[in-house]
Amino acid sequence: MQPSSELVLCSTVGLPMMKVNYRELFMQKMVILLKPEDIETSAKEFLSTYASYMESVGIYGKGSDGHANYQSKTAPVHEENVGFFEEWVEIANALEINTAVGMDLYTDRLFAKDPNYQSKNDKGKAMDHQICPNSPEFWQYASEIVAEIGHYPVDEIFVFGAGFIRDRFCFCEKCRNDFAPLVNQEPDRLTHQYLTENPEYHEKWHEWRSGIVHQGIEQLQAAARDISDSTERTKPLKLSIEMLLDPMTGLTEDAQNEYGYDWRRILDITGSMLVNLYPWSPILPAQESSEYDELVESLYFSNEFKRRGGDVTLFRWGIDSIEEVRELKDLAKDAAIDRISGTFAYPDDYSDRREEAIGG
Ligand SMILES: [Zn+2]
Repeated sequence: MQPSSELVLCSTVGLPMMKVNYRELFMQKMVILLKPEDIETSAKEFLSTYASYMESVGIYGKGSDGHANYQSKTAPVHEENVGFFEEWVEIANALEINTAVGMDLYTDRLFAKDPNYQSKNDKGKAMDHQICPNSPEFWQYASEIVAEIGHYPVDEIFVFGAGFIRDRFCFCEKCRNDFAPLVNQEPDRLTHQYLTENPEYHEKWHEWRSGIVHQGIEQLQAAARDISDSTERTKPLKLSIEMLLDPMTGLTEDAQNEYGYDWRRILDITGSMLVNLYPWSPILPAQESSEYDELVESLYFSNEFKRRGGDVTLFRWGIDSIEEVRELKDLAKDAAIDRISGTFAYPDDYSDRREEAIGG
């Protein structure tokens, strides 16, 4: 056994130390999305050790703390990670390893410090970790980040946090002013209850929010297209958009109403989707349970996606054993999905996100 093939990691959410056998993980063909701090060696040493087992690998470019790991002119930078990031993408490209870069979108704790961009619930409580998606200035900011990442020789960007927190969001001033007239209400009297009591208004709410989410994604895709046209690439830069899928918030169709995204529109806009499986529920259902069958059925949309040339990836946060990788792989196989991906840790702001998504 190579001594360097087993590294020790510490998860950021207080899980016990775990041993990661990277070689075994790469041999499972999972796209592991890493943070520079996950790796204890240089990028060069790591990639040259595992390159022969690796087809594809991911590295975080901008996390939910709002900082970039590359030399950004737009977002504040974790300077200590820049050298690692640049070496990583250059070497991965030279070794012809498919390279994905993780980017948090509306889940941006730094930008969300600005009260003008915070998402709010209908009681006026502001979220300091989540930006309201109804923010064209922020789309511009995020588009610049897409362009900056696209200047590096990377193949794709995993876009996380691309939707609303839940159906109960957003009731910030801008959302109130924009939406209230559509349902004959005064902006400051608009409540979630007012919408749920009238199915027609509630439906309008879903459509309106969905329009906003996809306008934002379209703008990012335009930035990806521009950067693909202006740089020498063999393939255009791909944006894989996260869709949360959890039994607590409903499976495919319900998730669309909760978060605002619609796989059909994502298929048309970017053609690639990252299904974040069970983000709020730590355990996947056992094979041959009725919940498992229901989950497989809810993933059938991926057939349509693939038939029309799109890509679907099954993704999990906090994978901490090879058994969990195999479990994900089996599910992907049952749902006829070709690719799996995951992180070792949960996002740093996971407890806040989970609380707002399913608490209360
Ligand atoms: Zn809002």
